[in-house]
Amino acid sequence: MSPNSCGSAPVHAETEVHFRDAAAKALLDPQLRANFRRAMDGLITKRKAQFPDPRDLQDLRDLSTAIRSRSLLNLPELLEQFEANCTKNGIKVHWAETCEQANELILGIMQAKGAKTLVKGKSMVSEEMHLNAFLESKGIEALESDLGEYIIQLDGETPSHIIMPAIHKNKDQIARQFSQKIKDAKYTEDVDELTAMARKVLRQKFLDADAGLSGVNFAVAETGTLCLVENEGNGRMSTHVPPLHIAVMGLEKVVARLEDVAPLYAILTRSATGQAVSTYFNLITGPRGAGEKDGPQEVHLVILDNGRSRIYADPQLRATLRCIRCGACMNHCPVYTRVGGHAYEAVYPGPIGKILTPQMEGVGVRHDLIHGSSLCGACGEVCPVEIPIPEILVRLRREATHEDLGSAVAGKGTGRTATEDWAWRLWAGVTKRPTLYRIATWFATRFGKALPAGAPLIKNWTQSRTKPVPARRSLSERMRTEGGPHA
Ligand code: SF4
Repeated sequence: MSPNSCGSAPVHAETEVHFRDAAAKALLDPQLRANFRRAMDGLITKRKAQFPDPRDLQDLRDLSTAIRSRSLLNLPELLEQFEANCTKNGIKVHWAETCEQANELILGIMQAKGAKTLVKGKSMVSEEMHLNAFLESKGIEALESDLGEYIIQLDGETPSHIIMPAIHKNKDQIARQFSQKIKDAKYTEDVDELTAMARKVLRQKFLDADAGLSGVNFAVAETGTLCLVENEGNGRMSTHVPPLHIAVMGLEKVVARLEDVAPLYAILTRSATGQAVSTYFNLITGPRGAGEKDGPQEVHLVILDNGRSRIYADPQLRATLRCIRCGACMNHCPVYTRVGGHAYEAVYPGPIGKILTPQMEGVGVRHDLIHGSSLCGACGEVCPVEIPIPEILVRLRREATHEDLGSAVAGKGTGRTATEDWAWRLWAGVTKRPTLYRIATWFATRFGKALPAGAPLIKNWTQSRTKPVPARRSLSERMRTEGGPHA
């Protein structure tokens, strides 16, 4: 498949998006920084309270990591089993290699039923597909029903966090927004009143919608069950009130057994929002049965690849697919907590986005993301399924500048800038020629000190570091005059 079926074609790194510029801009917004700091501090404290005993936490992490790893090891067989059991349950399964195919499939399903309105539960895969914009271009209304998603949809924004999409806004900003954008809404900063306003709009939309859409947290192969974790009840409304339910999931979401779900659910809610359990946990095993009073008449499931097969094929990078989308890596990331999610200009922000987005869109085109990390390791330490994010970042940095590593990484070798190319060629040319190398080091040791710290090639390095002072004589000169094993 094409490396980035949901984005633009990989091009040279210098011409594409720059996380550093967007992050620098975000750092100048004190309101944004205050909103994130407050929200992230709260989430970190709540998560910590859920894991009072580090040994219990580690046991649960070990178990969860083993379940996700085992699921991925058997992914092809589990997906076949899952499809067979879904079909047996009356769920119609569709496969999409690209986002475009997934969007067309959903459009086709809706058109076949004459559906014109869609009410959506939270789904990051649908964000990956840019489904709302696609459906709206085809004359279909797609309304977000998760409160955070609803808030950002009113402003035409994208999520800034994978589980709390409107976390960049505070209640005063939402109060202003509601009073301007919701018909007959009065200005109030009371959170309950704001929630009631959104509920009033959404309740009618659930009743009127022709179709509902949801994501999938876990897909159980042995039973053909779709598991949905949520707190607002909008997921259940989206999947049970309209006559047509369409679920979308990435192909990595499958687990073998129902009993695998319990530990993953336990660590997901604790890591994500610091809750022992979520308010709702839905197990969907097919459309409304004969004699049942509610539930959709039809359930469709779209399983999306979008580069996941390529990630899966690499034994090290495959760990990326263990992710259960809890967001803990973001909440603890010293970069994300200061610049927020929009600076990443990607569907998946934060540490998981820094490894997932470049693998989906190409390491060259998202070179900015893989270098936007200090490699402090906080993400890897909190990840409930022990994804070695820093190690994967280092691997992707190497892939971005080397074409010849024998991997299938999208855009490998295209992340090197023209300046880097020039510098490495020069370095290789000099080091291959001993005489030239000696002359170069002689000049560097004698005149390196004279190079100003603000010189174009080194200024980015020296603006936050002291310029290294070269030794007065090179090592080989010292060996020659002072003696040594290879003098
Ligand atoms: S990488 Fe780990 S911590 Fe980050 S969202 Fe995924 S599971 Fe959660």
